[in-house]
Amino acid sequence: MQLTVWTYEGPPHVGAMRIAASMRGVHFVLHAPQGDTYADLLFTMIERRSTRPPVTYTTFQARDLGSDTAEIFKTACREAVERFRPDAVLVGASCTAELIQDNPGGLAAALNLDIPVVNLELPSYQKKENWGAAETFYRLVRAFAPAPVGVAAARTPGRVCNILGPASLGFRHRDDIVEVRKLVESLGVTINVVAPLGASVADLARLPEADFNIVLYPEIGGVTADWLKRNHGQPFVAIQPIGALATEAFVEAVAKAAGIKAQDIPETRSRLPWYSRSVDSTYLTGKRVFIFGDATHAVAAAHIAAKELGFTVCGLGTYSREFAREVRAAAAEYGVEPLISDDHLAVEDAIISAQPELVLGTQMERHVAKRLRIPCAVISSPVHVQDFPARYSPQMGVEGANVIFDSWVHPLMMGLEEHLLHMFRDDFEFNDTAQPSHLSQGAPAAASAQEEHAAAAGSPLIEVPATLQWADEAERELKKIPFFVRGKARRNTERFASENGLRTITLETLYDAKAHFSR
Ligand code: SF4
Repeated sequence: MQLTVWTYEGPPHVGAMRIAASMRGVHFVLHAPQGDTYADLLFTMIERRSTRPPVTYTTFQARDLGSDTAEIFKTACREAVERFRPDAVLVGASCTAELIQDNPGGLAAALNLDIPVVNLELPSYQKKENWGAAETFYRLVRAFAPAPVGVAAARTPGRVCNILGPASLGFRHRDDIVEVRKLVESLGVTINVVAPLGASVADLARLPEADFNIVLYPEIGGVTADWLKRNHGQPFVAIQPIGALATEAFVEAVAKAAGIKAQDIPETRSRLPWYSRSVDSTYLTGKRVFIFGDATHAVAAAHIAAKELGFTVCGLGTYSREFAREVRAAAAEYGVEPLISDDHLAVEDAIISAQPELVLGTQMERHVAKRLRIPCAVISSPVHVQDFPARYSPQMGVEGANVIFDSWVHPLMMGLEEHLLHMFRDDFEFNDTAQPSHLSQGAPAAASAQEEHAAAAGSPLIEVPATLQWADEAERELKKIPFFVRGKARRNTERFASENGLRTITLETLYDAKAHFSR
């Protein structure tokens, strides 16, 4: 284990907490030291959940280590069940508690509770948060939708599906479900259960009733979908509808799994394709984009960037080691070296050497991009509180494609002045070394003021006689000229005044100079 100031994923018990917090009627008793209650803040502060997650910590302290910590766990477990009356209880240990080897599963079994207990083995020193979430979901499904005896019968296509994977703290999962539900139901397919987000253990027991599964987030739902396929014969759709093209492919795949003909339903038509064609191509075509995140979002982002927006993928990576294969395959497609790492400093180095014009990443890459003054957008967990917006803001489906277009392209277009800087690149204040105006230090207002001040002080950039004055009225008129040509207008006017032996620039001088230079 490495002590670090930033981590892409927490320990696996945080993943287990995410599943407990996603579901109804599930409580998690976590054998953990006092400080581990920090994890509550991920849900109440980052996700802005209005209630504490359904987790009871044993919160043992250093002085307890010499006594019976197993008894502390049993008391906490018994009291949590009495107090919260859940339908099922999850038990597990955090990193430190794992070391004291109290065996929460065995201890909970000894309590003879009147509700099901699901024991979680969470190897904190080998695995991480997403693995913990996937494992917890899988254990719960195995417990409540047990495998039938014998070989699972092959299913014929039918119009009932489950949606697997959305979870608490997931990037835009809350809104993705709404969008995907709309898409799926527009095809005439019925959604049996969405899990884990919003599901109860009774819902998990109903999972086998569906004809097929849709895996929205393989990082969390993939293992369970595999198990349901092997043991209940349910095929699954593994296309995530992120982007306009993937949304169309998703609709086709769902229709095929349901045994119906996919129609060109209007809901699949996003504004993204037309917008990306219609926006001035100098903003889009060939923009170098560096992408890093969980595997699902990173691979989808690379596809959208290259195939839908005309960007050049100059870097692609993930912190999800379990999905390194998928990211390597995608990186090969775009001709870049895959970056599989959970070291944010390595990611920062890769960004610097790739020299991107846009960074798509997690909260951490947003920080890096801001430091490097590169436009950026967040595409994946882990995210900050601002990535749980009050407004509807999906990443999946039709509206998701629209949201993606806006959130990726607008940072590149912050002010048309970047474009104008190119047009006026030969002017002293708009040369190639000038910063784009959306970057704070290169803000045009500040640059222009500096240049104007320098001119007044007799900078060699503009040779102005020290005696030359601007009348207030002329100065006010000059300020009405758009900033990107104001400097040129000032310089030309001063040259005109100087050549004509004038000592004060009046409104009339300004217009005379304009007429002179436009001849
Ligand atoms: S037990 Fe694990 S999660 Fe808790 S404080 Fe220690 S290292 Fe962090």
